[in-house]
Amino acid sequence: MEASSRREGASLGRSVCVVTGASRGLGRAVCLRLAGALSPGSALLLSGRAEAPLREVEALLRRDWPRLRPRALPADLDHPHAAPTLLQAATEARRQMEEGEGGAPPQRLLLVNNAGSLGDISKSFCELTDAAEVGAYLGLNVTSALCLTAGLLQAFPARPGFRRTVVNISSLAALQPFKSWSLYCTGKAARDMMFRVLAQEEPDVRVLSYAPGPLDTDMQEEVRSKSGDPELRRMFLAMKEEGKLLDCDVSAQKLLDLLLDDTFESGAHVDFYDP
Ligand code: NDP
Repeated sequence: MEASSRREGASLGRSVCVVTGASRGLGRAVCLRLAGALSPGSALLLSGRAEAPLREVEALLRRDWPRLRPRALPADLDHPHAAPTLLQAATEARRQMEEGEGGAPPQRLLLVNNAGSLGDISKSFCELTDAAEVGAYLGLNVTSALCLTAGLLQAFPARPGFRRTVVNISSLAALQPFKSWSLYCTGKAARDMMFRVLAQEEPDVRVLSYAPGPLDTDMQEEVRSKSGDPELRRMFLAMKEEGKLLDCDVSAQKLLDLLLDDTFESGAHVDFYDP
């Protein structure tokens, strides 16, 4: 399927954007798609652990969109310093916009909580007896997204004319149980609910839980090779072999169209395959 924009020329405005998991897979594609919809002067903060691929995304953005301000911020989101570093970079970006040439405050904060992991999907529910393992999983996949989002919303409070948009990269696994994916399903379900609460508490914040569909990424490779449930492994192997996995660019474009249309119900779970 070709990635094409139904919203040619539409803009998200002068934005401070933070994308987690920007080094590869969906997050990388989201950064490259978003760039074309941001007004000059916008900042794009790229989070991930692997420095080299993050710098590569930064360099691509600088080359293709010289009027944007991309910045790679390598850090493990599990680490307590990661969220404060991103918050500091976001507030610095706002200051640069305000004080730079033709200075004006940003029109939008956009956070895409994309980073994620599967956990040990070789284990069945009854094998998950190690509280430290479970805690570490939830720490990265639930706690870090909650604390980063809360911190950014505090640092960028509501003000007239300023738009705040928070994306939670979700999954069908938030709604449907898959054998041997206890941690992943639990984390995704928890995130959906967490962001529904945010939508209730902060009516000015546009909150979207976007399930991107089955993507041809490293995570899918792990699903095919490590899922404890053989039926599930076979199903995802068949999807790969039959060419049914989605290109990240196509799913990233759908997300961008949803953001540009801005008609979703705040807090809703929207799937790639939804009309
Ligand atoms: P990948 O495994 O390909 O990429 C995961 C991203 O998260 C990488 O950029 C990785 O960067 C980052 N990341 C992982 N752990 C950490 C960490 N501790 N600290 C900081 N960053 C981290 O995943 P996908 O692109 O496939 O998935 C992206 C999102 O989409 C995930 O939330 C996933 O659950 C969701 N999703 C994926 C589907 C699929 O079929 N692939 C289907 C439905 C949902 P680095 O290694 O540099 O740290």
